[in-house]
Amino acid sequence: MSAEPVLTLADLAAWARPGTSLAVLGHPIKHSVSPAMHNAALAQLAAVDRRYAHWHYFRFEVPPDDLPRALKLLQAARFHGVNLTVPHKVIAFGRLARVDAAAQPAGAVNTLRLEPAGWHGFNTDGYGLATAIRAELGLPLAGAHVLLLGAGGAARGAAVECLRQGCASLAIANRSAENLRALLDIVRPLAGAIPVRGFAPAEAPADLPAGMIVINATSAGLRSGDPAPVDLAALPRPAAVYDMIYNPPRTPLLQAAAALGLTHAHGLGMLVHQGAKALELWTGVPAHCTAPAMAAAARAALA
Ligand code: NDP
Repeated sequence: MSAEPVLTLADLAAWARPGTSLAVLGHPIKHSVSPAMHNAALAQLAAVDRRYAHWHYFRFEVPPDDLPRALKLLQAARFHGVNLTVPHKVIAFGRLARVDAAAQPAGAVNTLRLEPAGWHGFNTDGYGLATAIRAELGLPLAGAHVLLLGAGGAARGAAVECLRQGCASLAIANRSAENLRALLDIVRPLAGAIPVRGFAPAEAPADLPAGMIVINATSAGLRSGDPAPVDLAALPRPAAVYDMIYNPPRTPLLQAAAALGLTHAHGLGMLVHQGAKALELWTGVPAHCTAPAMAAAARAALA
């Protein structure tokens, strides 16, 4: 775990640090590996360009009601960039000077950059997911049949990215029918000619195609004793399984994938690639240059 201390709004109100400051805001934030990832990448950049020796990435514990004040204080303190994690990605959406067009359909932002007009919001989670699936499963989302598990915030971003990349079809399975319906209502207008359907995980239609990429965007698997969010053995044989959960690294879903001999990966790559893309938005350094240092730091922080 990174030694980066957990700061609060009181620290921010008295901020006097020279140099370029970056931060992640969350509630809770104690377990975030983002400070370790970003500071490792900044150290790598500083070794070849001394400007980055004055950059540092901090963590702030910010309860949801304090987010508006936090954004004002960060702007006043001239923070250059901010990452947002649970529960701020959606709350921040309506409070920014500008939101990147690609982040609009997701209704959530995870990266902010300070510009003369104020905070400019982006969402790098979709890039992180697509890049990790391509790199670790060897599969593009473009042209893929996708089975997405879940209907929360992460599933919404994933569904938007699958459609944006031009998947062949999108099937969404979720435990609660109400949340599933809400996600389908958001996703269908974005789908164009791409077939989209939804169902309960135990009621998968018999005509699902073989060779799907199964993406877990539920939190089932975070806690020990959680069930797998779907019975993989009951589906037509998938091409591969991606679980957004990375801690623990072997969820019941990934154990089932391994038992069936399916290519699979946990979600650390997504975390790394969204982080590298955020750093690219702040520095201009291409994400693929900093992703390896971030991955090594994330693995060490979680070990
Ligand atoms: P939300 O709370 O918004 O959504 C949770 C989802 O999980 C809902 O669809 C919920 O179903 C489902 N769910 C929860 N418990 C169970 C269960 N026991 N069985 C079946 N389904 C269940 O969470 P997020 O969307 O923000 O996050 C989802 C997951 O994605 C988390 O594990 C998170 O760690 C991970 N994530 C990983 C990222 C990465 O970079 N790797 C980035 C973002 C998220 P229902 O609607 O029925 O309640």
